[in-house]
Amino acid sequence: MKHYDEILIGSGPAAYKMSNLLAKTDHQVLVIDGFEFGGTCPNYGCEPKIFLEGAVRNVLQSQQLVGHGISHPATLDWQQLMQSKLDRFDPWPAETKEIIAKTHDVETGYAEFLDDQTVQVNGHQYQADHIIIATGQTPNLLEIPGQEYLHTSYDVLSLKELPKKMTFIGAGFVSLELATLVAAAGAEVTVIVHSDRVLRSFPQDESQTLVKAMQERGIRFMFNTNTQAVQKTTVGLEIHTDQGVIKTDYVVDATGRHPNIDRLHLDRTGIQSDRHGIAVDNHLMTTVKDVYAIGDVVSRREPKLTPVAEFEGQYLFDYLTGRTTELISYPTIAKAAFTYPVVAAVGINPDEVADDPRYRIEREPLKYGSLYAGQNDQISELTLVFKGGQLVGASEVDEHAADDINNFAPVIGLSITGEQYRQAVINIYPALADKVGGLL
Ligand SMILES: Cc1cc2nc3c(=O)[nH]c(=O)nc-3n(C[C@H](O)[C@H](O)[C@H](O)COP(=O)(O)OP(=O)(O)OC[C@H]3O[C@@H](n4cnc5c(N)ncnc54)[C@H](O)[C@@H]3O)c2cc1C
Repeated sequence: MKHYDEILIGSGPAAYKMSNLLAKTDHQVLVIDGFEFGGTCPNYGCEPKIFLEGAVRNVLQSQQLVGHGISHPATLDWQQLMQSKLDRFDPWPAETKEIIAKTHDVETGYAEFLDDQTVQVNGHQYQADHIIIATGQTPNLLEIPGQEYLHTSYDVLSLKELPKKMTFIGAGFVSLELATLVAAAGAEVTVIVHSDRVLRSFPQDESQTLVKAMQERGIRFMFNTNTQAVQKTTVGLEIHTDQGVIKTDYVVDATGRHPNIDRLHLDRTGIQSDRHGIAVDNHLMTTVKDVYAIGDVVSRREPKLTPVAEFEGQYLFDYLTGRTTELISYPTIAKAAFTYPVVAAVGINPDEVADDPRYRIEREPLKYGSLYAGQNDQISELTLVFKGGQLVGASEVDEHAADDINNFAPVIGLSITGEQYRQAVINIYPALADKVGGLL
């Protein structure tokens, strides 16, 4: 049986980061993936999504400027857009596999544990000094009659023909981002929300502003609605809910994602997991010695995002190669929903400290600035949370929210005071970051 220094199960951002770092050492490494090399983010997540969002944003911006200097707004050609997406992204898994194979051994297939130390793939058995599980998450599929008619984000991001009526179940960032894309391309969109709010981990003022903007573009929200079944009819599909029947052509289950652990046969090992993923200690080691877990498959409170997965890949490389002995400590993590408008946030959520006198919450309408007015951006709301004069939270809803919140993230992460910022930085003016110093 071949023995490696490291076996990486999965090749998404978490494992890919480690694989790249290990490529610069003399370690013998095996990388295993059962599906598209590179994982979710580059193949069926962040990257294709943001690629499609580029054209969508231009279309929606041009519509917003009708009567303010634009007389003929742009329209979206979904087929053409999707073709250019496929041209760019289709070769990526094979290219990624090739890059990894230059320095490591590679197996294409789903890995399973035979015992605490042994991994099997394609009938071959392997052991290693360290086994690293980086198998990510996979979209949920509701256990309802008609489950076979449910599609996932994976399908939407490769959809060659745009259905006339599309329904999204769920109100997290994946659901609202995809709903934004297809609605801009002309689909009639309904979003089914089982509670009374969307984007639960984001501040509510910003999330409600987003819902209003999406409703104004014709996207229908059904709140407090539970999906019970999907049925095929002679003309399309019917979604049965406790609030009535929705006629549609295409249903997307965007109710969340769950850890990819079923195929691993953890039952043959001492590795413990819960519904959020694999349990790890503060060195990312599982309940079995020398078996680690990184990325979305880990059960933890931090958001399941690519930079977090990569951070864990970097940490584990440093730990296993003796570059650090410290416990993992997560930095300030900024996040965004790439809807239109974008909702983004970092640090303390104002909803959680609204009644706490130690915090001061300031709301800044940005739409009066020429940069925003020039785009006829009528929304633009920024919320800042201060504690004892120090910025500890920022959230925003508008076209620029992701980049803008990225400007505030270092102020929070590095605990920079207003005086220190103004003494150290004069930003380009007029531009997004020019407001930072003045608001601290
Ligand atoms: C639609 C969508 C949009 C997103 N947008 C963003 C965004 O804008 N920004 C952001 O930061 N994050 C975004 N994310 C999340 C981001 O994609 C993930 O956080 C990131 O990919 C996690 O990386 P990972 O390496 O942990 O797992 P993954 O990227 O999921 O990779 C896991 C890999 O393991 C493989 N695998 C699973 N089981 C086995 C097995 N038994 N044997 C072998 N291989 C196996 C899988 O095939 C997969 O390739 C998005 C996700 C989705 C679905």
